Amino acid sequence: MSDTNKKLKYAVIKWAMSTQRIFRSHISSPPNYTVKCVETSCPGKVHGHVPKYDIHWVVTNVVPHNCVRKNLLVNHPNLASTLIAQLMYT
Ligand SMILES: [Zn+2]
Repeated sequence: MSDTNKKLKYAVIKWAMSTQRIFRSHISSPPNYTVKCVETSCPGKVHGHVPKYDIHWVVTNVVPHNCVRKNLLVNHPNLASTLIAQLMYT
């Protein structure tokens, strides 16, 4: 995975976590990365990609949630250990 793709995935997951909801990866074929809300009835999603001839990713297609936020997520399933490490250093 290239550095750009890593940053893209990181940014998308970080955004997903900021909504305090659980997402699951939808499309993860580089240079595209999409995550969707785990609630199937909820349209909430975010898509990020790297435009052709560009080295910087952009986050597009941010669809707001209509699901009800439940408990504050302490152990977020999307938080991989590598991501926790990154968050601690930023
Ligand atoms: Zn949702």
